[in-house]
Formats: sequence, C-alpha cells, structure tokens
Amino acid sequence: LGNTGIEVTELGHGTLIFGKLQAQLPSAAGAAALEKSYELGVRFIDTAQAYDSYRHVRAFLDKVGPDDVVIASKSHARTYDDMMAAVEEARAELAVETIDIMHLHGVADRDDFMSRRAALDALVECKRRSTIRAIGLSSHSVEGIRAIAEVPEVTVVHPIFNRKSLGLISGTTEELIEELSRLKKRGVGIYAMKVFAGGHYVKEMERAVAYVRESGIVDASVVGMKTPEEVDIDVRLFETGTLSDSDRQRLALFEKKLIVYDMCDRCGNCVRTCQQQAMVLDETKARNIPEKCVLCGYCAEACPRFAIRVI
Ligand code: SF4
Ligand code: SF4
Repeated sequence: LGNTGIEVTELGHGTLIFGKLQAQLPSAAGAAALEKSYELGVRFIDTAQAYDSYRHVRAFLDKVGPDDVVIASKSHARTYDDMMAAVEEARAELAVETIDIMHLHGVADRDDFMSRRAALDALVECKRRSTIRAIGLSSHSVEGIRAIAEVPEVTVVHPIFNRKSLGLISGTTEELIEELSRLKKRGVGIYAMKVFAGGHYVKEMERAVAYVRESGIVDASVVGMKTPEEVDIDVRLFETGTLSDSDRQRLALFEKKLIVYDMCDRCGNCVRTCQQQAMVLDETKARNIPEKCVLCGYCAEACPRFAIRVI
C-alpha cells in the first residue's frame, strides 16, 4: 500500500453492508462472510466507527484468530479527544493492539479537513504510540483529496473510484485521477471504494474491475460482501477478471435498493445528510433518486423515524 510498508490483498472486504446502515446482519452472519473471504485469500478488512460492523469483525477475529489481516477503520471525529477515543474504541471492540490504518472519515473539502486538524494531531500521537500504523483519509470528492496534497502525515487515501465516477461529489474524473496520481508519486497508498458504485454496476462488474485495474492508480479495492456466496463470486471475479453465466444470474439476485417507508414525516434530515443530493422531498414523503444514490445508507442513520432502509 504505497510506501507505508503495509501489504494488503488487491481485494479487501468492505463491512459497511453488515451494520445498521444496511443489511443489519447478526454478528455471526458477517463473520461467516469474512471467514469465507479469509479462506479464499483476502487479507484486508475495511470497517469504520459509523458502520456498526466492529462486532462482525470481532466475531471473525475471535473465531479464526488470524495474524495476517490488515484492518482499516475510520472516524468522523473532529477533536483530539474524540479521535483518541475512536482509536481506543476500535482497539477495544476488535480486541487488537494496533489498528493498521485509521482514516479521517469522509472529508468533503479543505475547510472540512482544516476543521479536523486536532483529530489529525491525535492520529499522529496514536502513530507515535503504535496504536495505529498509518494515517488515512477517505473522501467522495476531489476537494477532499486535494486537502492532503501537502500533508505528509497522511500516507493512505481511500477515494471513491469507479468507471463513471458515480458518487463523486466534487470535481471531474480527470481531476480525481490527477490528484491521485500526484499522491501516488509521493508514495501514498491508495485503495478504492465503491468500485461497483454501491451496486449500480452489478450487471457490468467485469468492466468495473477492468477499469480500476487499468487505471494503474489504486493498490487495492474494498468491496462490500454480505454472504459467503457473494464472496465466492467476487473473489473469482478479481482472480480471473470474468464471471460465469451462473455467477451473473446469482448476482442479479443481490441487487440493492433504497426504500422510504410511509412513516416518513418529511423532516428533511435525509435530504440534508446526503452528500450525493440523491434525496428530495415529495408531497407525501422523501424520495430517492437512484441515478445519484450510491446506496451508502448514511441517510438511514439520519432518519429519526427509521423510515429508510437499504436492502
Ligand atoms: S440517498 Fe442515502 S444511501 Fe443514497 S447516497 Fe444519499 S445518503 Fe447514501
Ligand atoms: S429523514 Fe426520514 S422522516 Fe425525515 S424526510 Fe427523510 S425519510 Fe422522511
């Protein structure tokens, strides 16, 4: 992963899909998916304080006891104390000494980054104490990634990166590639999120993987995989670059969607939360705009009436 000295497999297991924002799986079910990916050679797990997936990762770690898995987490913490607490929470809940990569989660732009300087200071201190190995930044925007152009402490970046730049909230594909190329030259490790755009590319997954590979930009990609069956298909896709007809038929069953239930009272929280501008208020309730939505589930967390589910 860049010059970090951290080695990951090209395919990482994303865990957003396990928790309260999406499938709400029992811990054992998430652990079973992680166990399958471990069995097939995946050695990289991506989680976050906000994902509610530490419990699934912990169940996997407790059962399998691997000593060769790289774990990345993230926190939206803005203050020094909150970020210190976030790192301690991750270490305690996962029962590990060291979190390999800890990210500033979802940095939108330079102002947002500057408002988290104290959180970054906390990560520098955690690195000094060896409670983390590397400092990262995750972002859905060119402006967010540009914010670390001259910040040497950040050595890993986790950008949204997919064939049509679906979900990129600021900047163009060309600008994104330019920023990432600059960071790559500096030795920053880069691993992609949403290579299948949260499920939008389920019918063109081979092209999606080929695009990411041919870009020559990213070292690895993390993909949300909910079941051992999905793991089986995705590992085969990354190993061979192709899918069989039966894989394609099975994948069609996994298509995700966002539902807004009638208990919505039009409070507008989801509209304000969604960075993709994929929620609007209709006359009776909130409505999702599928073409803009990356199915991250963040709006579901913001809904006080539990009226949104990504399933
Ligand atoms: S509508 Fe919800 S799930 Fe879709 S991108 Fe926005 S926050 Fe994410
Ligand atoms: S946050 Fe929930 S209740 Fe509020 S508008 Fe959105 S769906 Fe409706």
